[in-house]
Amino acid sequence: MQQLQGIAVSPGVAIGEAMVMDNEGFRIPRRFVVRDAVEGEVERLDRAIAAASEEVHRNCDTVSRELGEQYGAIFEAHLRMLQDSGLHGELEEMIRQRKYTPEYAVTRALRRYAKVFETLERANDIFDIEKRLLRHLLGQRREGMDHLTSPVLLLAHNLTPSETANLDRKYIRGFVTEIGGPGGHTAIVAEALEIPAVVGTGAFLTDVSGGDTVIIDGDKGLVIIQPDEETLARYRHKGEKIRTLAAQLETLRDLPAETADGVHVRLMGNIEFPDEVGHCIDRGADGIGLYRTEFLYLKSNKLPTEAVHYDAYSEVIRAMDGRPVTIRSFDLGADKLPQAVGVDNERNPFLGLRSIRLALRDLPLFRTQLRAVLRASALGEVRLMFPLISTLLELRQAKMVLADVREDLAEHEIEFDRRMQVGMMVEVPSAVMMIEQFVEEVDFLSIGTNDLIQYTLAVDRTNKDVVGLYNPADPAVLKLIRMTIDAAQKRQVSTNLCGQMSGSPTYTMLLLGLGLRQLSVPPSAIPEIKKVCRSVTIDQCEAVSRRAMTMENARDIARYLKEELKKYAPELVP
Ligand code: PEP
Ligand code: MG
Repeated sequence: MQQLQGIAVSPGVAIGEAMVMDNEGFRIPRRFVVRDAVEGEVERLDRAIAAASEEVHRNCDTVSRELGEQYGAIFEAHLRMLQDSGLHGELEEMIRQRKYTPEYAVTRALRRYAKVFETLERANDIFDIEKRLLRHLLGQRREGMDHLTSPVLLLAHNLTPSETANLDRKYIRGFVTEIGGPGGHTAIVAEALEIPAVVGTGAFLTDVSGGDTVIIDGDKGLVIIQPDEETLARYRHKGEKIRTLAAQLETLRDLPAETADGVHVRLMGNIEFPDEVGHCIDRGADGIGLYRTEFLYLKSNKLPTEAVHYDAYSEVIRAMDGRPVTIRSFDLGADKLPQAVGVDNERNPFLGLRSIRLALRDLPLFRTQLRAVLRASALGEVRLMFPLISTLLELRQAKMVLADVREDLAEHEIEFDRRMQVGMMVEVPSAVMMIEQFVEEVDFLSIGTNDLIQYTLAVDRTNKDVVGLYNPADPAVLKLIRMTIDAAQKRQVSTNLCGQMSGSPTYTMLLLGLGLRQLSVPPSAIPEIKKVCRSVTIDQCEAVSRRAMTMENARDIARYLKEELKKYAPELVP
């Protein structure tokens, strides 16, 4: 049994078989062969060994010739290993007796060798041989993720947000990545998929084989490989408890998110894909508070046409049946960059051509989306917001482009809602500093704490090595939130908070105490947040926020907020 600590990004527990995707994306899709196929599989192994040996032989010659014999000797050692009769016998036995596929046999055998060689610092040579053999075995047959036939837990070095968005939800029941941070969009998509996920564990893929049993504890950020019976039993029990709590919370579905003293909280869902609307409705969401439309661009290699945008928005608006839908114009760039959008590699992508900056740079791209949003506004209550606004000029430019698109539609007598509300996300400290001016020019605000934390504390939200700084409870972040809410209240501009912190019950009392009456959360978090709302009064929340705002560091604040939550909704404290 091996236990790893990573960063918990999507709650719940998953127990299952590992599917390993290493740096080169190899994975071992099947573990067993049927009896009749054994001979053919042994032949396939032999062919792969022969092809790999020939390749190594060639490498050996070239390297010896160009760099000297001492370097060529490295490959000679590889060749000896590849042709070692002991290894061959072991692999053949695994295929004939245990009915392993050659790929699975190669991985199992060579990873065992690698462990032995680790102390001699030769493990990398073994991995090299393993990869070479897998390349020959999987070759053209390297199966895509879409060929899965049974549930697995995906273990990968890294997953980009678009890879995560394209995971087969039917079979991928959880994932772990070696890198990645708490606020990255990979983490956010995991929540959307409603599968437990842990990121930033550090290197471990060499210690695990496809087919190993793995537990992902998405609450504590733990990954357990080849658990013992006692651990398995403990986690099965934990899984049961989670299901029981979910069933209890389901009874709140049709009750309003109202505090014990009768104050209504508008509790909305964050979505990335139209089909998540069902998850929101099932949990009784009051609307969509954030639709991350950039995922339309990440799902395919082609840029979405106006029709693709329009169809997606219509699906969401119709399903929400009169409840408001807040569409955010695309927030591409940084960790969400489809190939079709031509942005060069940047040294600091989170500080670069991202989001509204990209939209204002590529007006045809922006206008296509705005046309679709406006047309869709004829179908229900649509609100549009611009992401990552950092200066007044940017907001004004975005509004000008919108006005221009509006005029165009009006000229062609195309229907749209002329009173469609237009707002902005508050996620850059400069926007908070200028918030009194901003509230004069928007219909609503939505606080994006995922980025606000990143830009306030200068901490990359996707970097596991600085995770200690990435904390929603940081007093500097809380002050910026309070400044925003206060300024908006003065001008009676409605304010929502749609960063991930709004989906954590730990912060609900604080946010209500600061004056928020709208929260937009991942759909899976709606029941828990509703439970907190219904368990507290506004007076209690205000007392909590007053106290929290006197504290000087994130750790004390987070601990205090958890203690308070324990008093009112102890079942929600993990
Ligand atoms: C945020 O930054 O808090 C936010 C909601 O936007 P995103 O996570 O998509 O950057
Ligand atoms: Mg953001």
